[in-house]
Amino acid sequence: MAASIVFVFGLLIGSFLNVCIYRIPKNISIVFPNSHCPKCKKEIKWYDNIPVLSYLLLLGKCRNCKTKISPRYLIVELITAILFVSGFYRFGLSREFISILVFISVITIFSFLIVIALIDLKTQYIYDVTVIPLAIFGICVSVLIPGRGPLLALAGYLAGGAVFLLIAIFSLAVYKQEGMGMGDVKLAAATGTFLGLQGVLIMSLLSVILGSIISSYLLLSGRKHRMDPIPFGPFIVLGTFIVMLAGDKIILAGYYFQNFIIKN
Ligand SMILES: [Zn+2]
Repeated sequence: MAASIVFVFGLLIGSFLNVCIYRIPKNISIVFPNSHCPKCKKEIKWYDNIPVLSYLLLLGKCRNCKTKISPRYLIVELITAILFVSGFYRFGLSREFISILVFISVITIFSFLIVIALIDLKTQYIYDVTVIPLAIFGICVSVLIPGRGPLLALAGYLAGGAVFLLIAIFSLAVYKQEGMGMGDVKLAAATGTFLGLQGVLIMSLLSVILGSIISSYLLLSGRKHRMDPIPFGPFIVLGTFIVMLAGDKIILAGYYFQNFIIKN
């Protein structure tokens, strides 16, 4: 029951994240005005703006001009809802004040990450208005994590930034083209504030592995060409989600690998 409420809440927030993804690159306010059809400019009524349902009922078209609406809207709503439910199972949610604060912090971080990844996919750009508030938020919520606090959050910020700055310099030297931008460095730094030192290093490793596998696939299958930009932000976001939702399992697997496989 609680999980289904979290799911529906995730759909509603996902619908708002769609607005952010569409408006932040255009530098439009995310609060006003109400949503309009990008083609015919007609205002979208509340009953045509219900997550998932409206999209299915209208068969993915504007009610007025019948322009096709990107399935991305539906996908973002579903991904947000699924991630919120995963966060609910991973971090729990009770009536205790601290548990509510932790849950709200987790879904806020998830929301930032979804918006950053989707905007980067669309525009190949990571906006300061998204990564700077995420870093500040990460430093603030570090007081909720036992044994962390703002100083260690800051250390995580510097570690994440340093690792990706090195990768950026390295890829510039080797490939003679900008493989990683300053946006990626700022994003990795921001994730360090809540992942912590160990977490941000695991995230870096995961995102580089995922990035290499998926870019190789895109290049080899001819979906992308050598000079096409492949945004790296989504891989940092993916790595961050994995560490947040399954970080302890990865660390355990690491210990297992060290103690049983290497030693034997
Ligand atoms: Zn329309």
